Amino acid sequence: MTQSTVKQNLKILVINCGSSSIKYQLFDMRERSVLAAGLLEQIGEARSRLTQRTRSRKGGMRATAKTQTVGGHRQGLALIGRVMADTGALGSFTELYGIGHRVVHGGEAFRAPVIIDRGVMDAIRRMAALAPLHNPANLVGIEVAREHAPQVPQVAVFDTAFHQTLPPHAFHYGLPRGLYRRHHVRRYGFHGTSHAYVTRQAAAHLQRPPDAVNLITLHLGNGASAAAVKNGRSVDTSMGMTPLEGLIMGTRCGDLDPAIIFYLGRETGQPAGEIEALLNRESGLKGICGVNDMRDILQRAEGGDAAARLAIDMYTYRIRKYIGAYTAVLGRVDALVFTAGIGEHAADIRRRCCRGLAHLGIVLDEDENSRRGAGIREVQAAHSKVRILVIPTDEELEIAEQTLKQIRDDAQTAF
Ligand code: ADP
Repeated sequence: MTQSTVKQNLKILVINCGSSSIKYQLFDMRERSVLAAGLLEQIGEARSRLTQRTRSRKGGMRATAKTQTVGGHRQGLALIGRVMADTGALGSFTELYGIGHRVVHGGEAFRAPVIIDRGVMDAIRRMAALAPLHNPANLVGIEVAREHAPQVPQVAVFDTAFHQTLPPHAFHYGLPRGLYRRHHVRRYGFHGTSHAYVTRQAAAHLQRPPDAVNLITLHLGNGASAAAVKNGRSVDTSMGMTPLEGLIMGTRCGDLDPAIIFYLGRETGQPAGEIEALLNRESGLKGICGVNDMRDILQRAEGGDAAARLAIDMYTYRIRKYIGAYTAVLGRVDALVFTAGIGEHAADIRRRCCRGLAHLGIVLDEDENSRRGAGIREVQAAHSKVRILVIPTDEELEIAEQTLKQIRDDAQTAF
């Protein structure tokens, strides 16, 4: 990038491209504000639906919805461009300072965000076997964005990158070593963008440099993962080679005896693909109590539903086990961090996750924990050795920050 192409505006578009959807957010990075946020769904079907919220001049958000046939992602991004122009959010893609793409799997090749070129795209393609549902779709997003905005620098931000600091004793499985060398079988970890974001936020809140904090971060959304962060770097995490391992999630089972898969194959005659779908989409909270939305589960449990109560007990017991394990990994824990939909909003789940952990220095203040509020909140009791923080995550903003930094660093090295 040359000095003449460094633009004055700092509009960054963040794209999260799925196999039949494009989620996007447009930021003005001068003030870190969201100009527009939208979702195009059911691409390739007769009735694709685009919904967008756009910031009005007065500061409020206006909603726009469109339903029409969108044959593919190329057409989809063109429609997004038109809607952003019609709503006044962005005249054209050429106005952008940069585009940031969420890419799920960076394998061992990417420890940090990277400016996208042909070589990077080839590497993302090669990693498709590790994330067959996500990487190909992420790549399509990159290809169509490069077609629509060939002059705009684009950056790939990987879900796995933050966990590339795991030491070998944490990322290897107890399998023959050749499987790692030949087939790349190892723990990679995911939700890295969120764990990285809340780590920086926690460090700033605790008024410490990011490389001086020890944290246990709990990302509890539909997918869920825990990370042990030592001196600001991830040293262990609950998701593994794929996002199936670890905590109990909305529809994923989390930790499991691998022999169950072979047993099920023999007993039910189901092919491997069906069992894989069962573990990913029909298990977890949904498998235990029939629904995967934590709000519904809490309501059912309140009404006396035994399956919902069991689901909550299992969900929070698994989290407590990880808190114990990561306390052993870290030695000193400065803060336990709750984030994502459940971590930020479900006070009762936070309470149960911390129950009985006083011997680890973790004591919640029930009143603080029940109080609602925006921004970062501290919910530990006065005598708790470990601070307990509720930090709203913002993966899109983190991708925009990383994109801005990468483009600026790249411009610097070009001079
Ligand atoms: P995703 O992984 O899809 O981004 P989110 O981070 O939005 O997921 O989290 C979704 C989960 O958060 C759902 O299980 C939802 O029920 C839960 N959730 C959101 N708000 C609340 C709330 N007020 N109380 C309890 N659970 C909530």
